[in-house]
Amino acid sequence: MNALQPIRGTRDLIGEEMRRHRHVAETARRIAELWGFEEWQTPVIEDTRVFTRSLGDTSDVVTKEMYTFEDRGGESITLRPENTAGVCRALVSNGLTQSLPQKVFYAGPMFRYERPQKGRYRQFHQIGIETVGAAEPLADAEAIACGQAILKALGVAEGTTLEINTLGDRESRTTYRSALIAFLSAHEAKLSADSRARLHRNPLRVLDSKDETDRAIVADAPDIFPYLTDTARAHWETVQRHLATFGVPFRVNPRIVRGLDYYSHTAFEFVTDRLGAQGTVMAGGRYDGLVEEMGGPPTPAVGWAAGIERLAMLTGAVPPPAPPVAVIPVGEAAEEAAIRVLTALREAGIRAEMAFRGTLKRRMERANRIGARAAVILGDSERAAGIAQVKDLATGEQQAVPIAELPARLRR
Ligand code: ATP
Ligand code: MG
Repeated sequence: MNALQPIRGTRDLIGEEMRRHRHVAETARRIAELWGFEEWQTPVIEDTRVFTRSLGDTSDVVTKEMYTFEDRGGESITLRPENTAGVCRALVSNGLTQSLPQKVFYAGPMFRYERPQKGRYRQFHQIGIETVGAAEPLADAEAIACGQAILKALGVAEGTTLEINTLGDRESRTTYRSALIAFLSAHEAKLSADSRARLHRNPLRVLDSKDETDRAIVADAPDIFPYLTDTARAHWETVQRHLATFGVPFRVNPRIVRGLDYYSHTAFEFVTDRLGAQGTVMAGGRYDGLVEEMGGPPTPAVGWAAGIERLAMLTGAVPPPAPPVAVIPVGEAAEEAAIRVLTALREAGIRAEMAFRGTLKRRMERANRIGARAAVILGDSERAAGIAQVKDLATGEQQAVPIAELPARLRR
C-alpha cells in the first residue's frame, strides 16, 4: 500500500524544527507574561460568522482562504484563520466586556487555504497579543514594544524593521477614502483586476497590492496624513512619542494598511529581508470596531500576530535538552534495580534514560549515541554491595557510588 502523505501546506514538526517552534512560543509566552499579558486559548473551530462579521467581506482571508465546512448538524463551521476575532468573541461570550482592559496572549494553529511556499502554509501557527478595552495611544505603543521585546529575546530584532502607519479615525478615513478613490480612478484601466474590484469597496487595500503595476501607480497616491482629524493626529503623534520612550526604533511607511478590514489608527508590521517574499514576521494594529461586531459594547482594542514558522526560520539552532544519564543493567536480574535507580534519578529532576534491551556493549554504544553524559552500570556483584559504577562518558573516568547517593552525585 502506498504511504499516506500530510495534507498539502501542512507539516510535521520533529527534532530541530519542533525545538525551534517551541522555543519561539515559549519565549513569547514568557515575555508577554512579563508585560502583563495573560494567556487565553480559544477553540480552533468557530461559528463561520465570527470571521465573516469581523474580517469584512472584501478581505482575502474571507473571500479566498477560509476552511469552511458544514458539520453533521448542519452548522457552518470555520477553522480559525486568525485569533483576534476569536478573542473578541470570547470576551463577549464570557461576559468580560465590563472587566476591561484585558491583556491577552495566545499561541496556536491557524488555517488558511493559500498557495503553499516557503514561509506560507495552510496550517501555520501564530503567537499574538491583544489589549482589549484601552483607547489610549499608550496601549498601541505598549503592544508594539512588547512585540519588539519578544523579537529581541529571540535574537531576531536586529534583522527586522518596524514600519508603522495610521489609518486615522472613521472621519479621517472617509475624507481620505474619497481622495484615494479620485486618484485611483484616474488609473483604473491599468489597475489589476483585484484592485479594480476593491477600488470603490475598500480602496485602502489597493495600497497594499502585491501586483507590480499597482505598486507603481500607488507610489504616487496621496498619503492619509493631511486628512487626519485633530484627534487622529494626536493619537498618531503620541504613539510615536511613546515608542521612542520605550526605545523602539521605527520607520513611518504610509503604505502599511493591513489585509483585514477592521483596523483604525495604528497599523504596523515588523518586516525582514531575510525571508524572501514572506517578509512580514509580525503585524497588527488598532481595531476599535471589532468587539461591537461580536455583539458586545463599543470597545477599543489593539494587538498583533506573528507567524511562528517565520520567526523559527530566523532564530538560530535551538540545542536539544541537557544530555541524559544512561542507566545500564547488566543481565536481566539487574533490570528491576535499574528501574528503581531510573525512577529515583527522574524524581530528583535528573534526565535519565534506559534502553529497553541489549547487552552491556550495546547499551554503552547507545548511551554514547544519545549523547549521555554518564552511564550508571548495575552489575550483579556491585548490586549485592549496594553500589553502582558511574562512568563519566566525557572523560571515561569510572567510580563506584552507593546506589542511595546516585541522585545527589549526578545532580549537575
Ligand atoms: P501575508 O501578507 O504574508 O499574507 P497577512 O497579512 O495575511 O500576511 P496576518 O493575517 O497579519 O498576515 O498574519 C500575521 C502573521 O502571521 C504574518 O505576518 C505572518 O508572519 C503569519 N502568517 C500569515 N499567513 C501565514 C501563512 N499562510 N503561513 C505562515 N505564516 C503566516
Ligand atoms: Mg495573507
